[in-house]
Amino acid sequence: MNRVDVQSSCSDDNEADTLSVDAALLKMLNAVAEKSGTEHIPLTSAVDRILAAPILSPINVPSHRNAAVDGYAIIHTDLPSSGEIKTLNIVGRIVAGHPYKGRLKQGECLQIMTGAQMPDAADTVIMQEHVEIHDNTIHIDARHKNGQNVRQAGEDIQQNHTVLEAGIKLTPPQIGLIASLGISEVHVKTPLTIAVFSTGDELLNLGEPPREGCIYDSNRYSMISALKKIGCKVLDMGIIADDPEQLRSAFKLASNSADVIFTSGGVSVGAADYTKQILAETGSINFWKVAIKPGRPIAFGHIDNTTFFGLPGNPVAVMVTFYQFALPCLQKMMGLTTPLICPTIQAKSTHSIRKIAGRTEFQRGFLSKNNNGEWEVSTTGKQGSGILRSMSDANSFIILEHERPSINKGDWVITQPFSALF
Ligand code: AMP
Ligand code: MG
Repeated sequence: MNRVDVQSSCSDDNEADTLSVDAALLKMLNAVAEKSGTEHIPLTSAVDRILAAPILSPINVPSHRNAAVDGYAIIHTDLPSSGEIKTLNIVGRIVAGHPYKGRLKQGECLQIMTGAQMPDAADTVIMQEHVEIHDNTIHIDARHKNGQNVRQAGEDIQQNHTVLEAGIKLTPPQIGLIASLGISEVHVKTPLTIAVFSTGDELLNLGEPPREGCIYDSNRYSMISALKKIGCKVLDMGIIADDPEQLRSAFKLASNSADVIFTSGGVSVGAADYTKQILAETGSINFWKVAIKPGRPIAFGHIDNTTFFGLPGNPVAVMVTFYQFALPCLQKMMGLTTPLICPTIQAKSTHSIRKIAGRTEFQRGFLSKNNNGEWEVSTTGKQGSGILRSMSDANSFIILEHERPSINKGDWVITQPFSALF
C-alpha cells in the first residue's frame, strides 16, 4: 500500500498552509470558467434555466394605447373648466379585444373597459365612479386631467429594447414577461454534465443487505439530488472501491464523459485513501487544508478539461463543502452572470457553542422567531461531521466566522437559511 502523505488529517487546524474559506473559494472560482453550450427550448420549460442570449422585445408593450380603468373615453378639450359641469353623449361601448371602428367627436364619449384600445381621437379616461349618468349622457366635473388613466403604447417596454440580459436564471415573472412579448422559445444554456461517484470499500449500495463494518452510501444520494436541484445532468457512476485500478479507470471514464466530477471520500489522509495518488498521476489537483469545520480536506483541480471536486467522506462535510464551494463554482460554469442572492440572518444563539478561533465553522441550526419577535437559533444536537441528522433536522447553517472564539448563550450569530441555498 502506498501512503502519499504522512501528515495527520485533522489534528492541527492552524498550520501555515491552511487556506481560509474565502481564499479557497476565490482560488476555485478563478480556476473555473463558463462551460455550458446553448440550446433553444420552449418557454414552458424554461423556468430556472439560464438565459443564453438577451431578450429583445419584438413589439411595444402595451402594443396599443388602452384604458387603465373602467370608465369613459373622452377628448381632453371636452374637460370642463373649474366650477363647470360638462355633459357628454355616450355613443358606444368598447371592450378589451374589440377596437372601436367609428370616430369619436367633440361632445361625445365612449364607455371603455380596462385594457380596451383607446379610440383614435380620445386621449383621456374618466373613471366610472367619477361620472353621473343621466339617460344616455355623462356629467363630469372639473377635477380631471388631460391624458389621465391612459396607458401609452410602449409605456412598459419599447420595441427592440433589451428586456432581459443573458446570464440570468429565469424566474416565473420573467417567463410571463417573455410570454407578454409573444415569444414562445428561448435560447438557454445547456445543463452541465456531472459525473458522481463515492469511494470506499466500506460502502454498500441501497438494496444490499447490511454487512459487518460497512455503511450505506449516502453521499452519492445527497450530492446527486443537490446537483439535480440546480439543473445539472448527472452521470451516476456508483461506488468505486479503494483500489488504484478501479479508481484510475473511474477517473478516466468520468473525465471523458463529464464537465465536472464529484467524488466523496478518499481525500483525507487515511490508510486506504488512494485517490490522492491516482489524481497526482492523472490531473492537476490541489489537496487543500481549508480552515473550515466540517470539511477541511478538500481536493480541487482539473483532469484534462474536466473540473474535479473531491469532497470529504463525512456526510455533513460533503454538504457544507458542496454549498459553500462547489455551488458558486457550478453557477459560474453554468454561465450565471448575476449572482443569486443568498441572504443571512442575525440570530441569538439559544446556547453556548464551543469554537476555536482560526477556522470558519458551519454548525447546523434551527432558526425560528422567539416571543419577542427576534430570530433565535439552536444547534441541532450533536454536530459531528458524520452525523447527517444534524443537517436533516436543521433549517440553516450557523456560520461562526474565522476569528471568532466560543459563543455564549444569547450572543448574536450569523445564520444562512437553507431555503436560500436549496
Ligand atoms: P474518508 O474521507 O474516505 O476517510 O471518509 C471519511 C468518513 O466518511 C468515513 O467514516 C467514511 O466511512 C465516511 N464516508 C465516506 N464516504 C461515504 C459515503 N459515500 N456515504 C456515507 N459515508 C461515507
Ligand atoms: Mg474512504
